Amino acid sequence: MKTITTSEALRNELAPARGRALTIGFVPTMGFLHDGHLSLLRRARAENDVVVLSIFVNPMQFNDPNDLLRYPRDLERDASLAHGEGTDLVFAPEVSDIYPDGFATVVGIPAQSAILEGAIRGASHFDGVLTVVAKLLNIVQPTVAYFGQKDAQQVFLVQRMVRDLAFPLRVEVCPTVREADGLAMSSRNVRLSNDDRRVSIALSAALQSAHRAIENGERNVTILRQRAVEALKHAGIATEYFDVVSAQSFEPLVMASGTVIILVAARVGPVRLIDNVVVDVPTLDARDPAGGTNEV
Ligand code: AMP
Repeated sequence: MKTITTSEALRNELAPARGRALTIGFVPTMGFLHDGHLSLLRRARAENDVVVLSIFVNPMQFNDPNDLLRYPRDLERDASLAHGEGTDLVFAPEVSDIYPDGFATVVGIPAQSAILEGAIRGASHFDGVLTVVAKLLNIVQPTVAYFGQKDAQQVFLVQRMVRDLAFPLRVEVCPTVREADGLAMSSRNVRLSNDDRRVSIALSAALQSAHRAIENGERNVTILRQRAVEALKHAGIATEYFDVVSAQSFEPLVMASGTVIILVAARVGPVRLIDNVVVDVPTLDARDPAGGTNEV
């Protein structure tokens, strides 16, 4: 395994593989790897000839300079974990390599960037994500890029960008990896105090309750939200958003139907946590009073 720090060196390193038409699997990350990231690497390893991991804490996607400053980093540990998963190349560029002087391009999807995470972090958060992902995809030119369902809005937008701009690659979405008690793994979890860590399971618990409520016939998103916000409040957590969107369009729904994503975001102590579950909503009997419509 090699660690490479410039785009040019990475291109040169990958040229022979490209010449031989080998498949390249790419896992973009911000580092401080955990089992969620490793599950993406494992999948990439199983499905490709060459595996590239990028580690780049992207300043353009941070709205809060303190969050950027405090983002955990440990390249040495990451390299050793990546090596353990059979990664071929770690690409860890400097900020100046990705954003050289005069860098001015922004890639954005205004409508779906403004809601949920965009409403909290600012719509420019996803401009930062999409711009850096577009650039990394152009540098690596992978056959397949692997993203986690954990960041549902991010992967939706990446898929939309890849489709809209005809990037020549496949995007694979990998399931969220969780701690034994249900907390979705995140590089930020290390910043939770012991007390915060204990209450943080309320997020995945609220998602599971909403999932069960849908299975039991509840379709009304306002009711699902009220229950979730109440449960989180009970655990001492202020909800930032709890919403149900169409998995296909990411449009927020009034009544859950089709395949939906239930999403939650909350601040637990000093840490912002996000989580989601994908649910295939069972069709209700047309005469069932719990049924409804998304027309408002
Ligand atoms: P990050 O380093 O947080 O930017 O994440 C890099 C990639 O790993 C993104 O595609 C994330 O969605 C994915 N990822 C992060 N946490 C998890 C998790 N718990 N399970 C699966 N994938 C994850």
